[in-house]
Amino acid sequence: MLICDKDRVKNKIETFSKFGDTGQGGVTRFSLSKEDLQARSEFVRRMEAIGVKTVADDMANVYATLPGTEKGLPAIVMASHTDSVRNGGNYDGILGVITAMEVVETIATKKIPHRHPITAMIWTNEEGSLYPPAMMSSGVVCGKFAKENIIASKSPEGKTFGDALKQSGYVGGEVNRLNPKEYTAMLELHIEQGPVLESEGMEIGVVEGVVGMVNYRIRTYGQTDHAGTTPMSFRRDALLAAASAIKYLHTELDKLDPNLVYTTGNILCHPNIHTCIPDAVDFSLDARHKDPAVIKQVVDIIKNMPKEFDKCEVNYEEAWARKTVKFNEELVALVQRSADAYGYTSKKMYSGAGHDAQYVADIMPTTMLFVPSKDGHSHCEPEHTSLDACCKGINVMLRTVLEIDKK
Ligand SMILES: [Zn+2]
Repeated sequence: MLICDKDRVKNKIETFSKFGDTGQGGVTRFSLSKEDLQARSEFVRRMEAIGVKTVADDMANVYATLPGTEKGLPAIVMASHTDSVRNGGNYDGILGVITAMEVVETIATKKIPHRHPITAMIWTNEEGSLYPPAMMSSGVVCGKFAKENIIASKSPEGKTFGDALKQSGYVGGEVNRLNPKEYTAMLELHIEQGPVLESEGMEIGVVEGVVGMVNYRIRTYGQTDHAGTTPMSFRRDALLAAASAIKYLHTELDKLDPNLVYTTGNILCHPNIHTCIPDAVDFSLDARHKDPAVIKQVVDIIKNMPKEFDKCEVNYEEAWARKTVKFNEELVALVQRSADAYGYTSKKMYSGAGHDAQYVADIMPTTMLFVPSKDGHSHCEPEHTSLDACCKGINVMLRTVLEIDKK
């Protein structure tokens, strides 16, 4: 069986971990920052060292393409991102880029015959850490976001993404964008970012799609008064009402499918002064499940919740929603067969997190594969996947790409 070069993978993981090293086991590598540009130039340097040319598109996405033997065939592309969240780990995104590089390097150095061009790619600003939204450039390339809105996106310091693009030195032509004519399939390896694979002793996650989600803002309204002079029975405390509403929602949502996940992660309290009874609270409810029928049950629970808690009025508003994305069934089956071919244990699963691949799935056959995350940690410095586990994922990617090439 064809396998990747373990020492070379180790060297790549260690090298990329230096770009934005926090000194505490992780990285802070915002998109198009100095640290990200270092990671990009390392990618370009390594690809060019094996004779693979790189180009960029107008969103600074970078493409390194190893030509195939047959003229006029579309390319097979593997992609992920080099940027991270603040104090992020050494695997989220970058392992997908390292995988793409390692597959291209293995095929090039072992001179494995292949008909299609094979591309390793970097997506710009997947995390949206400095310039929101997340999955920004795949969103533009796949027609989800208007480019003029995106380049106006500002960092907390007031710098626009458009300026960061110009200063990066990575702006190429719009003609270089990923497109369904010149590319036949897109694959992304990613860490799971959750505990399921590890806890079930599985080596490969065969990703069938990305779960759909809804995000609601729920608001409670009371009356602000003096914290010292207002007896408890006279109060209309909006924060107490919000607590009651959250408790009510949890009790009802827990009756639905056990695979449903939901979170209140953001809360705004007004006037947010310790001597004042709160008069307005606004909190988020994020709910995710692969089955749209379960998401509808969530929405029904929100819509049918009591209009009043603790003498405070309650209302709600949908902030945004995203439909479940299903990956290409043929590619999913191919990843499964590749995992089986190496004798790796695997599990079919949906991604609870968003990835660039979910936007690409709209324009061409796309799929993903996961490798386990130690203790399920991600978006933090303890994020870890063992070298062996990384190499197993890369091997599955390598075989999958070569199988697609035969079609
Ligand atoms: Zn990621």
